[in-house]
Amino acid sequence: MRYEAPKTTKEASALLAKEKGLAHVLAGGTDLLVRMKSGFVEPDLVVDIKRIEAMRKITPTAKGFRIGGAVASAELGENAALRKAWPGVVEAARLIGSTQIQGRATVVGNMCNASPAADSVPAMVAAGAKAIVVGPKGRREIPVEEVAIAPGKTSLKKGELVEAIDLPKRPPRSGDAYLRFIPRSEMDIAVVGAGVSLTLGTDGTCKEARVALGAVGPRVMLVKEAAAALVGTKVDAKALDKLAAAASAACRPIDDKRGTKEFRIEVAGVLARRAAEKALERARSKK
Ligand SMILES: Cc1cc2nc3c(=O)[nH]c(=O)nc-3n(C[C@H](O)[C@H](O)[C@H](O)COP(=O)(O)OP(=O)(O)OC[C@H]3O[C@@H](n4cnc5c(N)ncnc54)[C@H](O)[C@@H]3O)c2cc1C
Repeated sequence: MRYEAPKTTKEASALLAKEKGLAHVLAGGTDLLVRMKSGFVEPDLVVDIKRIEAMRKITPTAKGFRIGGAVASAELGENAALRKAWPGVVEAARLIGSTQIQGRATVVGNMCNASPAADSVPAMVAAGAKAIVVGPKGRREIPVEEVAIAPGKTSLKKGELVEAIDLPKRPPRSGDAYLRFIPRSEMDIAVVGAGVSLTLGTDGTCKEARVALGAVGPRVMLVKEAAAALVGTKVDAKALDKLAAAASAACRPIDDKRGTKEFRIEVAGVLARRAAEKALERARSKK
């Protein structure tokens, strides 16, 4: 196995593109190194991205925020401006593992590992986040919901890696939230995760909403019907009932030791409603 630690994203992409065998990007390593140690994966090349300056920072941009691919989830929580604009995305990143894990784990690694139960992904999908992908053909931007295509599989092509995540600018009266259900209080994989982001008009009517669910299908899903249940309403009890029903109806879960299909479907509705209530409260507090 070869280990490389390039200084630029372009160099990293060239290394990945040139490798004939199995190549993996190494960000925090909290998924990759565990899989390597357990013998599930044996890369011929590991490309460490933590020495790439452009990937190591959170930058406020004209469009919102850019979170570099090598930024650890703990750093999201330390950024006051990001916490204020996107509390739901930050709370999701701060649910990953433990304090120790959050010192290493990145949200980009969380997304590229392509687990349907990845905690930061529903929050980023609800936020309308975009992945900035660099490859042999240059740079492209894709919605976060289009990165994972199946458990453990991404839409990234040979030689491509994710340089950063772009979060859009927040209009006034906007809020987001992420909630997950796990059988214990921490350090477990989500049985269901729900992310909601919404924006209110001056009269308190919901103008825009996005709802995403994790762990209830082969990949994190954007549930447009659930969001539609909120838009044009005051996010009252009737709208929340409709949102919960739409969220449950969208689920295509599996049975496993953490929960049955029926349980996941029920919990998805409950969590989507609670996340919407939390996002609403946050939006109302931001005049
Ligand atoms: C004890 C423990 C607890 C955990 N708890 C949780 C939890 O509560 N919730 C949760 O969602 N996850 C959890 N995880 C899983 C893991 O920590 C997260 O998925 C984490 O966000 C992965 O990020 P990373 O930077 O460590 O990724 P890495 O392990 O470095 O990479 C993961 C995968 O993504 C690829 N990759 C990484 N960066 C890029 C990039 N820039 N471009 C292209 N491909 C890339 C890698 O090649 C690899 O295949 C836990 C793991 C452990 C060990």
